[in-house]
Amino acid sequence: MPAPKTVSDLSCADDYDPNSMPVSKAREYIRAVLDPVTTVERLHIRDALGRVLGSDVISPVNVPGHDNSAMDGYAVRFADLTSDRETTLKLIGTAFAGKPFGGPVSQGEAVRIMTGAVLPQGADTVIMQERASATGDSVSVTAVPQEGTNTRKAGEDLRKGEPALNKGQLVRPAELGLMASLGIGEVPVYRRLRVAFFSTGDELVNIGQPLGPGQIYDSNRYTLYGMLTRAGCDVLDMGVIRDTPEAIEKAFAEASEAADVIITSGGVSVGEADFVKQILARLGDVLFWKIAMKPGRPMAYGKIGRAHFFGLPGNPVAVMVTFYQFVRDALAVLQGQETIKPLPTMKARCTAPIKKAPGRTEFQRGILSRAGDGEWTVRPTGDQGSGILSSMSQAHCFIVLPTETGRLDAGAIVEVQPLEGLV
Ligand code: AMP
Ligand code: MG
Repeated sequence: MPAPKTVSDLSCADDYDPNSMPVSKAREYIRAVLDPVTTVERLHIRDALGRVLGSDVISPVNVPGHDNSAMDGYAVRFADLTSDRETTLKLIGTAFAGKPFGGPVSQGEAVRIMTGAVLPQGADTVIMQERASATGDSVSVTAVPQEGTNTRKAGEDLRKGEPALNKGQLVRPAELGLMASLGIGEVPVYRRLRVAFFSTGDELVNIGQPLGPGQIYDSNRYTLYGMLTRAGCDVLDMGVIRDTPEAIEKAFAEASEAADVIITSGGVSVGEADFVKQILARLGDVLFWKIAMKPGRPMAYGKIGRAHFFGLPGNPVAVMVTFYQFVRDALAVLQGQETIKPLPTMKARCTAPIKKAPGRTEFQRGILSRAGDGEWTVRPTGDQGSGILSSMSQAHCFIVLPTETGRLDAGAIVEVQPLEGLV
């Protein structure tokens, strides 16, 4: 990974335009500044779920440890089989998984073998039991397979001394099983990211308190809590901060001491941004962008002390969209993940017309279904206002409408980004 740039470097780029920032540029700029955590701790593999490996995991053994059978059947010597007629072999014993047949298989002999049992010495091929007939202590084989058929070779999954998993890899259920298959009980992982977040706005009230005139409950802190927890972060919920310069300055100062990442919602739109801008100019190095997207136009990004700062818009849907499009990948990089897989997308036929003006990327919320012919269709959730949080709850996906796209007729093929796996 190239050394991170400073925030001021970004604003010096030739094509830097804070007032019309394409989604892809904003991602690129953020990526250039990120500096991943370096502290590593050793954890039991179970506790490593959702963490990022702090070093390669070297296989201490071959997996599988021995050549073994992939089928229930008969272990034979390939050279004993004749292709033009039936071969009858002497059955000399049975090999079970976990209970090998002790001796070798000599010329003209076969061993009954179960799936996973060690291939006896001398045998190199397994005849499926359906392709052989056994009577007493002999077995007859008609169809001759290729040499080595139905066997699994020692080390074919993982080789002793080679990396089974790489530094920077996210530990998911498959990785837990893989480490267990190697007999590894503890693993070095990067420490968790600490993320502080707060909401700004005099209209916001905490749940549990009655609403006064014109007041609303603060929902963004709960969506953020959910998204950050799912992203594997340690969260520090700092509550609702009043829209006064003193309260906001104090909150930023505290958050930058306590956390690796600071996320706020609200207060970055025109009219509000001015005093926040002045405070942030004093405390850190922060850029204010108008992103060519909907929802999620106003956004701030930068550093306050050592902490990375994401100033997300206030509207509840815009918070979620900007989190998934910008913050999620940034957190993955900061957590030490070295290959960030792009969010998966797929094509679907849109069942309703879509109103859209060219010039910005839109992330509409959609409901997916599968038609009888197997084709995926998507229906926009209805009102696409950036305050309509129920649209995110109903939706299965974002309908991603690229910058140049204008109005679409019903039946158009659109790109969708499933929320499953994102959240
Ligand atoms: P702002 O960006 O602060 O102007 O906020 C834009 C809109 O989002 C306003 O309607 C706010 O009331 C609303 N909003 C801001 N913060 C929150 C929050 N934490 N929870 C719910 N709505 C919010
Ligand atoms: Mg506000």
